[in-house]
Amino acid sequence: MLANKNLIEFVCVTHVEPRAAGPKITLVEGAWAFCSGHGEREHEWMRIEPTRLEHVGDPRRIQRLKAS
Ligand SMILES: [Zn+2]
Repeated sequence: MLANKNLIEFVCVTHVEPRAAGPKITLVEGAWAFCSGHGEREHEWMRIEPTRLEHVGDPRRIQRLKAS
């Protein structure tokens, strides 16, 4: 069950080049994940602070979750 479908909790750090197909939003471990390059497979997901979809775009600008 999704607590808040408007928040992205993972971003893909493999497919970072924007493509005409646009970003892909998918589910990873029950949370929304954002792949800006619309990769089909072999994503490498980085967990981030839950971020609103409209604020996701450049993974480098998103705060990484501190390891705890
Ligand atoms: Zn990807």
